[in-house]
Amino acid sequence: MFTVKDMDLAGRIGLLKTKSGPIETPSFLPVIDPARQELPLSDIENAGFNQVITNAYLILKRFGDKAIDLGIHGVLGFKGVVMTDSGAYQVLEYGDIEYSQEAIIEYQKNIGSDIAVILDVPTGDVAYEEARLTVEETLRRAREALELIKDTKPLWVLPVQGGKYLDLVALSAREAAELPYYSVYGIGSPTVFFERYDLSTVLDMIHTAKRILPQGRPVHLFGAGHPLVFPFAVALGVDTFDSASYILYARDDRYIVNHGVYKLEDLDYLPCSCPVCSRRSPGDFLEADRAERTRLLALHNLYVIKNSLDNTKQAIKEGRLWELLEEVSRRHPKALEALRKFRKYYKYVEAQTPRVKGKIYGVKVYDVESLWNPKILRFRLKTLTILDSLLETVESINLAPLAGSEKECILDIIDTGGSMKIYYEPFIGIIPRELCGTYPTTQHLTPKTINWPVIEDLVNVLRILYSKARARGIPVTLVYCERVWWHSILAREASHLGVNVKVEC
Ligand code: ZN
Repeated sequence: MFTVKDMDLAGRIGLLKTKSGPIETPSFLPVIDPARQELPLSDIENAGFNQVITNAYLILKRFGDKAIDLGIHGVLGFKGVVMTDSGAYQVLEYGDIEYSQEAIIEYQKNIGSDIAVILDVPTGDVAYEEARLTVEETLRRAREALELIKDTKPLWVLPVQGGKYLDLVALSAREAAELPYYSVYGIGSPTVFFERYDLSTVLDMIHTAKRILPQGRPVHLFGAGHPLVFPFAVALGVDTFDSASYILYARDDRYIVNHGVYKLEDLDYLPCSCPVCSRRSPGDFLEADRAERTRLLALHNLYVIKNSLDNTKQAIKEGRLWELLEEVSRRHPKALEALRKFRKYYKYVEAQTPRVKGKIYGVKVYDVESLWNPKILRFRLKTLTILDSLLETVESINLAPLAGSEKECILDIIDTGGSMKIYYEPFIGIIPRELCGTYPTTQHLTPKTINWPVIEDLVNVLRILYSKARARGIPVTLVYCERVWWHSILAREASHLGVNVKVEC
């Protein structure tokens, strides 16, 4: 049903099989409003979306039994994969108790949904007690639904609720993971947080749920429709997304870009070369009539969404998803905040990151956040773990910069007797000569100008080495170059701690 084809960080490229064909994930499902769809489904299909989502409750209200005769694909005039949401929001909003969970589930089965959702109770941004009740009620309904969804054709989605209360999200995920017949898990209620660009809270929710949910099943994030969100959510293991943002923004003359959203009238140029924008100027949009303008904007917005997901998928293929997160983190302060959150997720993310991928390439490091790239941090942690055993037979330590030729250490085979050579290098930390040349000691690209926090990190790593050496009575000599500003800092710190220093240039 769901096969993972490739991975990087906790992000995966997968294949989700439905009765109307497969979806390659990560994947976005545009929300279709059956009553008011300014962007024809043929346009959506031509933009590369073979999957959409619509609202079963609204279909029921509008089409009733006619949708059962036509099937949901017939109603929409769309052959691809159709997911239906149960309309939990609408049922809550209109206080419509006439529609029971049983009725909504039967209806989704009867109209031929490919992926369907039980009638959950979205948490939203509410007080703790209220949030707890939404979790309990959703789980109660999930259990109640088991008999109704057993051996049926749609892939059933079980939404994990709890909102910003991570203990509730964990509880919800733990219980959900125990239930049979659900093929997809959803992460509910992020919309209120997205509206405030509060990406961090949503990532906490995803991380909490994903650590508990079985890895073999796909996870859907409800209501995520901005390019800033996808790389981060995918990196934590979200597989599918849906949103109406593309059309809601379009109706309001808003143009999605990678770093935010523009009001059309504020644009002098179109920073996009999608099929819509490449032949137009902002004036062309403004001159079009309302319906055409909405259609064009919605189509552009979808192209931007697709582009973000395609970029993310390519980064997974190449094993450089962390580097992509660093790039994207510079597009908005909230995105940088999100990246820094990944320090907290390190254990989970590292465990999912493959050790070897087909092609080995140089890791690009940029700034202090690069220290948390699993490819870098893995090596750093390994060095610190084996340091004790390495120091067992050593009489003295010679610390030298890796600078100069990157292959230097591999050629440096002079027998130094009982003296041990250890290199130091920003971002990588310390490299015992024996490990020099192993990935990524000489397979990383570093800027020549390095910011202070990265040097501070190196200072801290060296401090650990000094103290381990001192405990064993091993003398350390730090070789450095006076012309390099941060070498001088290391030397000053070393002298201060009673380590020998030696200027070599
Ligand atoms: Zn465009």
